[in-house]
Amino acid sequence: MRIYTKRDWRETFFRRAVIVEGCWLWDGAHTTNGYGELFTGKRTLYAHRASYEIHFGPIPEGMHVCHKCDNPGCCNPTHLFLGTPADNANDKARKGRTNAPRGNGNGRSKIRDEDLPALLRLRAAGLSQRLIGEVFGVKKQTVAYRLRTVSLPSSDEGTWG
Ligand SMILES: [Zn+2]
Repeated sequence: MRIYTKRDWRETFFRRAVIVEGCWLWDGAHTTNGYGELFTGKRTLYAHRASYEIHFGPIPEGMHVCHKCDNPGCCNPTHLFLGTPADNANDKARKGRTNAPRGNGNGRSKIRDEDLPALLRLRAAGLSQRLIGEVFGVKKQTVAYRLRTVSLPSSDEGTWG
């Protein structure tokens, strides 16, 4: 079953996101800053902001959607987090010093509890277990195991990233 029954910009989004080593690279127009652009038929969205809205809901007024990875063209929801404009600037400065991805370590074999809501959304959106595994950097068997053993969180509300 799919969440999205209409052909709309959300479907366009999933046709245009190409998964490479955990990042969803935008296979469409880009701004000069490297951000993906998605035309909805009425307006143009940043692809990473469109992704955030699809997976986590509306972006609060004035907030930025920042990247944990250093890839402005990436729209993997698990690589995105909300930040204030100041957070965004600090994050960029910090990444410039350390060049280390925030949060995820390399070569992990587990899906963290905080990733579960995103995992369930991706599954509900129709992604295969293999693709979901690529998103989280784990084997498809790990995804299958998590989907079997997961208990749904009581609420989707909360802060992300
Ligand atoms: Zn990424």
